[in-house]
Amino acid sequence: MSGEVARAICEICRNPTRALPLRGGGTLQRCDDCGHLTRDLAAAPADHRDRAYGGEPTLDAWRLALTHRLLTRDGAPRSVFEVGYGSGALLRRFLDAGATVAGTDPDQLEVAVDPLVRERGHLHTAAIEELAPAEDRVELVYGIHVLEHVRDPMRTLQHAAELVAPGGAVQFLTPAGDSDGLRAYGRAWWMLEDPTHVRFFSAESLRRAATSVGLTDVRVTRPALDSLVTDVASMTRLARPRPRPHGVLAQRSVLAAGLATAPLVLAARAARPTLRPTLHLTARKAS
Ligand SMILES: [Zn+2]
Repeated sequence: MSGEVARAICEICRNPTRALPLRGGGTLQRCDDCGHLTRDLAAAPADHRDRAYGGEPTLDAWRLALTHRLLTRDGAPRSVFEVGYGSGALLRRFLDAGATVAGTDPDQLEVAVDPLVRERGHLHTAAIEELAPAEDRVELVYGIHVLEHVRDPMRTLQHAAELVAPGGAVQFLTPAGDSDGLRAYGRAWWMLEDPTHVRFFSAESLRRAATSVGLTDVRVTRPALDSLVTDVASMTRLARPRPRPHGVLAQRSVLAAGLATAPLVLAARAARPTLRPTLHLTARKAS
């Protein structure tokens, strides 16, 4: 035996990983080959935060409209399946546009689901990895900020690919582990505030993951408008580190500063796309 310490293997491409030290302390595991990041909470703790950011009505309505527009850029689907539908607000948009809607969300009992979505939608409460094979295939399968949470991202993408009809599309939004934010803010990076964020894709790892489940026309882009408050939230955490049981955005001043600086953030992101903290996967199933 060489006495070498066993190195963890990348959950996406099976190549070796190594520890990536974070500014301010802690480490993530980074794949040497595809740049995929995984997080062990013991090595990169979440600063006392219990759950994901709970929501702010104005911001949420705006984000919902932007996300819906992003998902329907290539045309309006007649049937959709949402992985992690939450309150059903996005499914409601598709329902109002005349689509049939379905989805699964294991945390569904924690939030009130839109009544019309509950009535007309085909809703499941299993984790996506455990969902029974689909009876009805849909034109669009999507998940908004779920891939960073799930237990098995490859199985999740595989299931998404099985749920989509030939010629249909799969789309996911997830934090960008290869964005400038992680390097600049280190452990103060806002995406690390949520302890249920257990991985961060790079554009390359997301591309490889989608390709390896047999999807085609795989594209990974960086939307300019998603997660606009990431920078101000990260800067606040960097400048004034302290326990925040409800998360940094629970402070109204931080949220207000986030909205006030949005035009500056957008200008910076236009000049430098790697500042954008989100990856957008779009892929197709061959017809
Ligand atoms: Zn990898």
